[in-house]
Amino acid sequence: MKPCLAPARVDVDVAIIGAGIHGSALARELTLRGISCTVVDKGAVGGGTSQWSSQLLHGGIRYLQTGDIRQMREGLHERATWATIAPWRVRWESFWMPHRGFFEGLSHRIGIGLYDSWGRDRPGWPSSLHLGAVPSKIFEADPRAANTPFRGAVAYADLMTWDRDLVRDLAASSGAIWLDFHEIEGFDDAPGVLKAAHSRDLRDGTRRTIAAKNWVFALGPWNDSCLLRWFGDSWKRLRLSSGIHLWFDTPELLQSGCQRPWAMMRGEGRILFVIPRDGLLQVGTTERAVEDGCVPIVDAEREELFLALENTIPSVQWRKLPLRMEESGVRPLVRPPKDKAHTAKLSREAILETHPKFSNLRLVLGGKLTTARALMDRLATELSGQACPESRTRPLKKWDGQSPGLQ
Ligand SMILES: Cc1cc2nc3c(=O)[nH]c(=O)nc-3n(C[C@H](O)[C@H](O)[C@H](O)COP(=O)(O)OP(=O)(O)OC[C@H]3O[C@@H](n4cnc5c(N)ncnc54)[C@H](O)[C@@H]3O)c2cc1C
Repeated sequence: MKPCLAPARVDVDVAIIGAGIHGSALARELTLRGISCTVVDKGAVGGGTSQWSSQLLHGGIRYLQTGDIRQMREGLHERATWATIAPWRVRWESFWMPHRGFFEGLSHRIGIGLYDSWGRDRPGWPSSLHLGAVPSKIFEADPRAANTPFRGAVAYADLMTWDRDLVRDLAASSGAIWLDFHEIEGFDDAPGVLKAAHSRDLRDGTRRTIAAKNWVFALGPWNDSCLLRWFGDSWKRLRLSSGIHLWFDTPELLQSGCQRPWAMMRGEGRILFVIPRDGLLQVGTTERAVEDGCVPIVDAEREELFLALENTIPSVQWRKLPLRMEESGVRPLVRPPKDKAHTAKLSREAILETHPKFSNLRLVLGGKLTTARALMDRLATELSGQACPESRTRPLKKWDGQSPGLQ
């Protein structure tokens, strides 16, 4: 492993702590505006929640149930931006939403019709994919349709991505000083402002001082635990919810006509996804309230997913399929004032908060991959006083020089 070449003292305009999609997107936004920055992470770039998502850049079909149309439209708008700036990291798909009969099918057609009409800006959409009512012959040819309670499906458009590679592309598109595998040991402050942080390189023990005019913490689900440790903030700004995915290795199923992703409404705004991708079948996801940003999968979560699959797609012997891997990620959700609701009902929207003790420290709370660029665009504009429309059109740099997902 190469040693970190950063100097013992790093002086920048903005110091960002947390190198997930928010921290990395902000580094690109600041670079586009000519503002110097550093990004510090206790682990690898994109090594937190941003590598455990469902990997969808989407308007959020679940909002058809929860009614959050503003968030949906923002997501649809941003989806088109990602397809413009990182076409090699995305793939358009026609998702099938199955229905149990005429009336449910009709309501899906109306909702999906609106979704696809608001999301009609789809750069690079392949003409081979079809939207709207799935012809019954095609639906019935899918092995998942055998013995299912579903009678048909309506197809809608969404964008799949490779989440960690997207984060690394954002990082590669910035001129930030990257301090990965650096632990924060303490801060220096003056009345009302944060001045400097002291860090230790976990690989070789080198200590560095980071001085900055402005600070942004983009710590995902670790926000509350870090603020408690660093500044004694004992109140919680977030609620955490874990979600799991199972990845089945089932070439027979994939080759026998199981080609399009399925998205099934489960009530309370939850969706069960069954997505063929990268030669595997990905299924998920769940919602379990948790207390930490990194939690093991519990049996009940796995069981919940198996039961949901067996109830909706009984033709597949789910428990007998070879399981290639399981993953668990923790969603950072903004804690509402009256904090009673199930996490599935909480907004996925991010907010920016100024720390009550330090006027030059901004906290990124909550959020999604899909809207991370837009939010960090707004934050960079606020920090620099400069808007940058180019952010929505300038292609990212590929961190690895490769192009998965080209259609
Ligand atoms: C199961 C699941 C499915 C999801 N699906 C989707 C989806 O399909 N589409 C979508 O748009 N969004 C989805 N999301 C949401 C999305 O993944 C997250 O909101 C997003 O990745 C959060 O990014 P972030 O940069 O805020 O946090 P993170 O990616 O977690 O980054 C935070 C960083 O902070 C670092 N850190 C922590 N502690 C310290 C410390 N002490 N010092 C320094 N650094 C530290 C971590 O190492 C990490 O790299 C999903 C989330 C989950 C859990």
